[in-house]
Amino acid sequence: MIKQQLVFGKGNAKLDSFIRTYSMPAAYTCPSANLCQSFANRETGKITDGKNTLWRCFAASSESIFPNVRQSRWNNFELIKSCKTIGKMVALIQSSIPNNTTYIRCHVSGDFYNEMYFRAWLLVAKNNPAIIIYGYTKQIHFLVKYKKQLPSNFRFTASYGGKYDVLIKKHKLVSAKVVYSVNEADAAGLEIDHDDSKAIEHKRPFALLLHGRMAAGSEASIAISKLRKAGYIGYSNKNESRNHSSYTVLTPLKFTMRKNGIQQLTLA
Ligand code: SF4
Repeated sequence: MIKQQLVFGKGNAKLDSFIRTYSMPAAYTCPSANLCQSFANRETGKITDGKNTLWRCFAASSESIFPNVRQSRWNNFELIKSCKTIGKMVALIQSSIPNNTTYIRCHVSGDFYNEMYFRAWLLVAKNNPAIIIYGYTKQIHFLVKYKKQLPSNFRFTASYGGKYDVLIKKHKLVSAKVVYSVNEADAAGLEIDHDDSKAIEHKRPFALLLHGRMAAGSEASIAISKLRKAGYIGYSNKNESRNHSSYTVLTPLKFTMRKNGIQQLTLA
């Protein structure tokens, strides 16, 4: 039976528990995914990669392993799709946000599958200026189209590896690139975001270190082996709240309370 409220997760192993997470099925809700595209079958969990996949979507791997994760994400998607107007979508999202939420990591898995849904989150952000709503998107044409209307608490990083990469540089968007090694990030002049701090700050381009389970024999799989040998250990699969942006945390996040009650991100 489909639940009547969207399910939000609560933090993860690296982030404070008051960061709420929200997800939908990987790839099925990511029309612009390209190099990362992997589908976990809704019934069996079996992974199917896209024809251009270079690295396998971490979120799809989680869905493949954990049927409850799969079900929760599909429930969220079915509920959202059942809203036929933007007003209903906004009301559903708003009523599902847990009390006292100050940060939402939106789409640990999934993306803005259509424009109405994008606009719904945009309205939720406008209606809730005290909540930082952040994440990644490959629906970059939406970021471009609504660029002038994005409130400061709506912080979506343009994620390379999709169908609209060409727009990122052209429109000077804050972006994230998956790298296969620390050296690759260094060569590109990008710092690696190990803990979502750069995604939340949303100021400049950064890199994300490859993680997760890759297709056997792929270049990404070889890169993962090298990273593991070098001591980079990915996050536990028990925790489904990270996808595009995670690896070994080197600098823990710390939150302090401002006088106005909004939590302020700092680095510990
Ligand atoms: S990496 Fe992101 S955009 Fe790509 S398929 Fe997974 S959830 Fe979708």
